[in-house]
Amino acid sequence: MQPNELAAIQADAIVVGGGVAGLTAALKLAPHRVILLLNAPLGAGAATNWAQGGISAAIAPDDSPRQHASDTLTAAAGIADAAIVALATREAPRCIEELIALGARFDRTPGGDIALGREAAHSVNRILHIGGDGTGAGLMHALITAVRDCPSITVAENFAAEELLQDQGRVYGVIARATDQTDANAVSLQAAAVVLATGGIGGLYTVTTNPPGCSGAGLAMAANAGAKLSDLEFVQFHPTAMDVGRSPAPLATEALRGEGAVLVNELGERFMLDAHPEAELAPRDIVARTIWRQVRDGHKPYLDCRTAIGEKFPERFPTVFALANAAGINPSTDLIPVAPAAHYHMGGIATDCNGRTNLPGLWACGEVAATGLHGANRLASNSLLEGLVFGARAALDISAQYNTAGGQHAARAAHSQFQSYDAPELAPAVQRLREIMSVHAGVMRCETGLRTALTELNELMAMVGNRSARISNMLIAARLICEAALQRRESRGGHYREDYPATDPDQQHRSFSYSADAVADKQKTYAYA
Ligand SMILES: Cc1cc2nc3c(=O)[nH]c(=O)nc-3n(C[C@H](O)[C@H](O)[C@H](O)COP(=O)(O)OP(=O)(O)OC[C@H]3O[C@@H](n4cnc5c(N)ncnc54)[C@H](O)[C@@H]3O)c2cc1C
Repeated sequence: MQPNELAAIQADAIVVGGGVAGLTAALKLAPHRVILLLNAPLGAGAATNWAQGGISAAIAPDDSPRQHASDTLTAAAGIADAAIVALATREAPRCIEELIALGARFDRTPGGDIALGREAAHSVNRILHIGGDGTGAGLMHALITAVRDCPSITVAENFAAEELLQDQGRVYGVIARATDQTDANAVSLQAAAVVLATGGIGGLYTVTTNPPGCSGAGLAMAANAGAKLSDLEFVQFHPTAMDVGRSPAPLATEALRGEGAVLVNELGERFMLDAHPEAELAPRDIVARTIWRQVRDGHKPYLDCRTAIGEKFPERFPTVFALANAAGINPSTDLIPVAPAAHYHMGGIATDCNGRTNLPGLWACGEVAATGLHGANRLASNSLLEGLVFGARAALDISAQYNTAGGQHAARAAHSQFQSYDAPELAPAVQRLREIMSVHAGVMRCETGLRTALTELNELMAMVGNRSARISNMLIAARLICEAALQRRESRGGHYREDYPATDPDQQHRSFSYSADAVADKQKTYAYA
């Protein structure tokens, strides 16, 4: 699609992002006219596509939404929003039914029931899979087929949103630019509602499991517009990304450890035994920190699946097997080198139970949003669920509010503040940003390191100027995470401060913030929620 064709489309809503959250929102908005804006081809840039573990839902006879909620609250280290947790876990079984109706083919037992697996910190079997460890790809296949068949959705592939359009506080559109053309001009797209579903922030770190396009653009755009933000300090590091020199790092799913795979170092020592009573099945943050310390102390950590899984590997974990093979490793017979990798952002744009932000006209859902479901630590397999539940709820909220208002907007001229979307000559600045975040705002943090990070990020910001929307948004997102990490002077869930290693009961609450730059911009009007 050409930029002028896109700009000419009359839409009721613009959904930015095509993972589980954005696709669900776009589908549920029908028959309202939606522009689905994606910075990559449909499916390609989404973390959803790579999800291996599965989706959680209390559908077993020995399970209940209440039990699912209880496990979620326990994992969240004391600061999840109990009402949101109850809502999401209650709606989970219905989401599964809807996915089946859309054509999702969940793995079944020989008797025909949906097969349910277990993951760490779930007290019963409640994880649904598609194609073993290909759940995300299976889910995307069903959603993408439905989106392609939906006449109210215009899919705009390879267009990145770079700024929100705003008038007296109300968000009325986005500025976007083609990512597959050099020197592309920015286009202004306007609609009654904008939904940000841009995913996470893993791309801000040198080692991440996320697709490269998940680098905090939605978070930065919303922050610049004055959106309320929450829990930004909480980043989950997956303990067992494959350390095979690839970026993004392929993931060795937690389910491998669930099957009995163990962590050893180059001396053959099973180092998790001394670290936690649950050994390899300890909470993710504890396993990640233990692996990080092994590396710091000069050891080489490996995942050993040879005894527990062995010959069954290709059949039980076909996706991981293929990823390992591509790196020259046969996990049935070889050790897999592993390292912690930035994996999931618990924090994001603060939203209510309907995906509403504090800014009129702006909704957010999926990983870019902070509903309060995950608190300080996400329970495995709850994030696909979050995208389904809150993508749908945002769409229903928009439909209810704007049933008649869509497409009524007089087009207003809008200009980008940036010279271009990307600037390849600034690649060293991106590399530096990632190093700063990994060293100072990664698995372990401290005040000195975070202050150093902020100073260096500010220097990079001054150097980059307005040359690239993509890199400026990355820098803004990185800075916001460092600021939040500096503010929380304790360790909790995914946030570990070496200078404050204990959890402080007085800080058992979510954090909320605004971008200082946006607040300083007197032209913005806020709707403080
Ligand atoms: C390797 C891996 C395995 C995982 N396994 C599981 C699992 O088993 N179970 C589970 O529950 N969770 C899992 N997660 C987490 C889960 O996959 C994500 O949290 C979830 O898929 C996020 O969905 P989303 O729709 O919010 O974002 P994504 O699926 O990441 O989609 C984001 C979309 O936004 C687009 N985008 C980004 N910026 C822009 C922009 N500026 N303009 C236009 N488009 C933009 C991207 O192209 C993409 O289409 C895993 C994550 C990874 C990385």
